[in-house]
Amino acid sequence: MSTPHLPKRPPNSCGKPRYRPMRIALMSSEAVPFSKTGGLADVAGTLFKEYTGMGLDVSLFVPLYDSTVKRLHNRLVNLELEIDIPIGNEVKKCRVFSDQGLGREPKGKGTVYFVANEEYFGRSELYGPAEGDYPDNDARFTFFCRSVLEICIRLDLQFDVLHCNDWQTGLIPLYLKTLYRNESVFKNARTVLTIHNMGYQGLFPPSALGITGLGHEFFHPEGIEFYGKVNFLKAGLISADILTTVSPTYAREILLPEKGFGLDSVLKKRADALFGVLNGIDTSEWDPASDSLLHDKYSKTALEGKARCKQELMSRCSLAGTQETPLLCFIGRLSSQKGIDLLVEAMDELISAGTDLFILGKGDDRFQRLLSEQAGRYPGRIYFRVGFDEAMAHLAYAGADIFLMPSIYEPCGLGQMIAMRYGTIPVAYSTGGLVDTIVAADGPDKTGFLFDDHTPASFAEEVRKALLIFRRKETWHKLITNAMEKDFSWERSAVMYLELYGKPLN
Ligand code: ADP
Repeated sequence: MSTPHLPKRPPNSCGKPRYRPMRIALMSSEAVPFSKTGGLADVAGTLFKEYTGMGLDVSLFVPLYDSTVKRLHNRLVNLELEIDIPIGNEVKKCRVFSDQGLGREPKGKGTVYFVANEEYFGRSELYGPAEGDYPDNDARFTFFCRSVLEICIRLDLQFDVLHCNDWQTGLIPLYLKTLYRNESVFKNARTVLTIHNMGYQGLFPPSALGITGLGHEFFHPEGIEFYGKVNFLKAGLISADILTTVSPTYAREILLPEKGFGLDSVLKKRADALFGVLNGIDTSEWDPASDSLLHDKYSKTALEGKARCKQELMSRCSLAGTQETPLLCFIGRLSSQKGIDLLVEAMDELISAGTDLFILGKGDDRFQRLLSEQAGRYPGRIYFRVGFDEAMAHLAYAGADIFLMPSIYEPCGLGQMIAMRYGTIPVAYSTGGLVDTIVAADGPDKTGFLFDDHTPASFAEEVRKALLIFRRKETWHKLITNAMEKDFSWERSAVMYLELYGKPLN
């Protein structure tokens, strides 16, 4: 396991590095700006945009959800393909759409293929409602994986790299080594699987084997069996040519039992093929100087707009504080991974330390209830909103002073990077990508705070340390400047992926 080095290719006449011409396919169950429940969407969508901007030949495959249809409606182009996809003993129809808006991009050759099936993807949620996942997610994502491969065959799309993401696309590398191994379109294709979160593996009952069309010969510990279940992520881990995950620290952590979610021994066997490539953020979308969702823009040399955003956020959320009141913010999925238990338990102490608290999130019913109860106890001090709200998130990243990220584990995390870009200082647990992106050591480069014990006391203590500096205006200002100066752009990571795509295999 290692971090790839940046390529040292001679620049071309424009001073830009040269890339070996490659045809790249990105496969993801969500991608901005078409669909999103979390960071996976940001990563897939932004990497696609970055490659397109580099002039590379790249295609993105993503399901056509109801929400995507609503967003794109008259931009969708029907490619008039109807493909039969075997799902167990049934046959389901795959239709394929593209986005005509992208055809007008001045640069690059990006194509989006939307995989459509009303029964599977014409639903209100991507994976399931707050009570739990849709029970047929095995069929839905088997359908997606097979559809991608069938589209390549029907359209004769000969990719050099098939870059899969997470369990929803984990079957693709295995299919290429089994059911699809003799298909000539794939003869030069290598597969890359990026693990965005080991906590989500796509675990299904043994009946899923029939759905996938893979035989019982794969249902054993060296195959895709996992404690009596079928594991879609494991299918990818054992069969992709290259494995990556989204930060160097997480790449080390998942080889250990505490963070490997039972697959650490599988990963250890593949350690030579495992690389940590830090995610970036879309710095054109997330830019306080030009953010179209902000009424007041600002930059590190003109921060008045940030104070106005704070004012707007406080009045919209009926928070009673003033500019002098430290405003804490949490934005994220309401799941145990994100440390919501800790947040709930530390809340009384945070409030008694004189802070106001903004929380925006969607997820587990239990956490929604707990947070509502706490917010109810502190009217005017805690604002809690259940929902996924892009515009509100932008205003909160801009208007808050401190961003809370008490995640128990965090493969990379985007929230802390976005927050820093908006001059909002993170207080986070010392894990995964949070360690790789936040400079916590006291010194001239400090950008945030990390706590080492995952306990409410240690979390609240770190927030108190941050508050001490918050009250020392000049030092706080230096922290804001450092955070806003950090480079979280995608270019570096995109170049690392390109290097890996061309890496000789062991
Ligand atoms: P994860 O992928 O584990 O959910 P990340 O920090 O990597 O977490 O990415 C989360 C992304 O989703 C960020 O862009 C964050 O701003 C966004 N996000 C999460 N929850 C919400 C919400 N309720 N409303 C708006 N944006 C959200």
